[in-house]
Amino acid sequence: MAKDTQVDYLVMGAGVAGLRAAVELANHGEVLVVTKESLGESNTHYAQGGIAVAMQGEEDVALHLKDTIAAGDGLVWRPAAQTLVTEGPVRVAELIEWGAAFDKEGDKLLRTREGAHSLPRILHANGDATGAEISRSLVAFARAHMRIRFAEWTTVIGLVVTDGRATGADLLDRENNAERVSARAVLIAAGGAGQVYSDTTNPAVATGDGIALAAEAGAELADMEFYQFHPTALSLPGVPRFLLSEALRGEGAYLRNDRGERFMERYHPLLELAPRDVVARAITREGMGGAPGEARMVHLDMRHIKGQDLHQRFPGISAFLAQHGLDLSRDLIPVRPAAHYLMGGIKTDLAARTSLRALYAAGEAACTGVHGANRLASNSLLEGLVFGARAALSMLEDNLPLVAADAPEIVSMPLSASEELQVEEIVVKLQAAMWAYAGLLREEQTLREGFAAQKSCAQKLAELAAEGKGSRRLAEAQAMSRVAYSILASAMARTESRGAHYRNDYPKRDDRNFQKHSILGRQDRVVFEEW
Ligand SMILES: Cc1cc2nc3c(=O)[nH]c(=O)nc-3n(C[C@H](O)[C@H](O)[C@H](O)COP(=O)(O)OP(=O)(O)OC[C@H]3O[C@@H](n4cnc5c(N)ncnc54)[C@H](O)[C@@H]3O)c2cc1C
Repeated sequence: MAKDTQVDYLVMGAGVAGLRAAVELANHGEVLVVTKESLGESNTHYAQGGIAVAMQGEEDVALHLKDTIAAGDGLVWRPAAQTLVTEGPVRVAELIEWGAAFDKEGDKLLRTREGAHSLPRILHANGDATGAEISRSLVAFARAHMRIRFAEWTTVIGLVVTDGRATGADLLDRENNAERVSARAVLIAAGGAGQVYSDTTNPAVATGDGIALAAEAGAELADMEFYQFHPTALSLPGVPRFLLSEALRGEGAYLRNDRGERFMERYHPLLELAPRDVVARAITREGMGGAPGEARMVHLDMRHIKGQDLHQRFPGISAFLAQHGLDLSRDLIPVRPAAHYLMGGIKTDLAARTSLRALYAAGEAACTGVHGANRLASNSLLEGLVFGARAALSMLEDNLPLVAADAPEIVSMPLSASEELQVEEIVVKLQAAMWAYAGLLREEQTLREGFAAQKSCAQKLAELAAEGKGSRRLAEAQAMSRVAYSILASAMARTESRGAHYRNDYPKRDDRNFQKHSILGRQDRVVFEEW
């Protein structure tokens, strides 16, 4: 039997966006923050390189805007990017006041540079553990608020919609107990969906649940074809795709192919600091053409960097590599691209409102238009801070009443062990299909194969979910399947190449027809809109 709870504000997700919103909301009402695992387990926690912020005056702000727009390949929505770069410094200063300790030399904040940034403006913490420090400081600050309650190890499995507005959500705890929570406003800050792909830098919680649930509830999605593949994840057999931050290239790392050549000069004048999509595709191409079934290895090379203690600058990365017998200053490090960041998501306006009343979205789950077709490195933590705060302000301003949910009560019967195993097998198939058919290089035929694989997975999952059966993993698998469909449909509709979306059959950018955002609406149909 499901319990019924009421709160003022329900926040799905405890990453940078959800926590930043929660601390604002708690000044005005009771907040429930729901997170699938412990508070620290989020994409935010794993962010390494840093947070891009223009704290060095007006010229810096103007250049940050210019770099963001350039990286987005013609699709950045300027008002959103303007908001990001102008409000960013205030939000970061506030975070520092709340206890976030960024790296300093004396009193001066240290700044590094990453790909496509015209100057060093990226703050970092503990060398390469920026996200962990942001998460730590926000969690500590939020915990001090009496009016924030946390539901850890709890999964949101559905949104409740009453009379065309969000009125709450259904939750499932670790023991499979269901609970319905009614709220005046619901914020989705549930992060990205890297787990949709077999190769990803994202942790296991990043299964796109928030995006899938919003779509299911009738909210529009935008720009779902734009998935950023990080060029340099560690490529060792049987080892997770651990991220090797762009800051390594910012500090001078080279990329070399299996013949030892620095190949980036053939692809872009900015060499290793070219936009991520260019570097990722270059690595993919350099890695092709080996023996059947075997990729040619591409390596990151920092052996030439002298006068800098790489272990001190990158302690987390160095420690992880050491576990596998590798050393940044001594060895070539094998790399390959991996799914990293979703530029698209739940379509929001500048105030983080979605197309569904009382439903708000912020952070990686949202599509504000800030990143366009390609995110500028280190802009996403900043987006979470700026638009997390904006979401809270909108939720307060809209001041909607609590409405008792009139939807039927949820039932969740546990799956058997063999059914859970079947779910896992379906997930693995879906992830492999998405990597093979909707990865870095796409074309009509591969996308069709992707659709067929997704359809078969969705059917099997629907059968398993019949008769009121449910579990966290089943809910995640259904979310991944829905997100996979959205990526495939948007990628099929965009018959051009732009930013992170590359079509072998349409290799050129087509501004006349496609300098527009893709919108996936209620009928699961893609339309293109100018913003
Ligand atoms: C390895 C790595 C390195 C990165 N490095 C950088 C960097 O240097 N700079 C930068 O700007 N960005 C970086 N990013 C991207 C950045 O970390 C994320 O985009 C950003 O942190 C997203 O924040 P968020 O608050 O939107 O979501 P997240 O931090 O991902 O938080 C999502 C939250 O939602 C919860 N959740 C999800 N589904 C459910 C559900 N069904 N029910 C309940 N809770 C749910 C999760 O448990 C989690 O608490 C990196 C990402 C990765 C993976």
